[in-house]
Amino acid sequence: MNGMVMNIQRFCVQDGPGIRTTVFLKGCPLRCAWCHNPESHHAAPEVLYDADKCIGCGACAEICSGHSFSEGIHSYSCSGCIACGRCAQRCYSDALELCGRTMTAQEVVEAAARDKAFYRDNGGLTLSGGEPLMQSAFALEIAKLARQQGIHVCVETCGECSSAVMEKMAAVTDLFLYDIKLLDPDLHRQYTGVSNEQILRNLELLDRLNQPVILRCPIIPDINLTDEHFAKIAALAQRMDCVTEVQFEPYHPLGVQKAKRLSRRQPYGSEAFLSREEVLVFAQRAQKLTNKPFSVQ
Ligand code: SF4
Ligand code: SF4
Repeated sequence: MNGMVMNIQRFCVQDGPGIRTTVFLKGCPLRCAWCHNPESHHAAPEVLYDADKCIGCGACAEICSGHSFSEGIHSYSCSGCIACGRCAQRCYSDALELCGRTMTAQEVVEAAARDKAFYRDNGGLTLSGGEPLMQSAFALEIAKLARQQGIHVCVETCGECSSAVMEKMAAVTDLFLYDIKLLDPDLHRQYTGVSNEQILRNLELLDRLNQPVILRCPIIPDINLTDEHFAKIAALAQRMDCVTEVQFEPYHPLGVQKAKRLSRRQPYGSEAFLSREEVLVFAQRAQKLTNKPFSVQ
């Protein structure tokens, strides 16, 4: 079984318990205005170009008409690009990067298994993205193979998939990291491009299945940094027995630079970080509304 992998990151400590190998799969059904991984949106591989790293050597233009020079300045046009990656291989300064490669589920699990000694009691493999359940058959196969090797499996998901897919995934997953971005359905559609109805239905499904879930909540200034939002998250956590913990993730602007490298514009384009302390004030007020532990990442 093959799939499109964006990246495999080792020794991660924020993608579930313990030390983990995080496998980022490409493709996502949401378009969050603040997305910090815009290179994950499309399922197909694509080239990122960082103009700040370009030394104008011309090597890429020698092999592909997608690269051109005008008055000594390099430009890259993605129209017509077949993402063969030859230009990125030739780029001496890492200004070009091919994002996305085809791997088998077996290769992914072998890569994770190399880190097994570091997992100890609670670490393991985390499937993330993008949205890993966009490639549900691939994600299922990775999780099954990992569990056969005794590797703990976390799935970080936005929850936007069919209930049938979520149920199958639950059967081979130890812990879900479940993103909740907004609880108001209109605002959810406005800022992510999709309704939150199926996302909440799938969370209820995991609750019925007694599947452990950590809620992960990105906090974005001017969008959901409000007491009302934190109170709604607290009420949701309290209502769902499956929720063991809530983690708030303050906005960071890394997606803005990545979107530029993809010749796209990030809808929420603020380049200012949101401090952990600022989010903590809201989290501490809302913590009084639930006995589920809150933390700010
Ligand atoms: S990835 Fe291939 S097709 Fe695309 S710009 Fe580079 S060399 Fe050209
Ligand atoms: S190969 Fe890399 S450094 Fe050279 S011109 Fe192309 S993008 Fe710039």
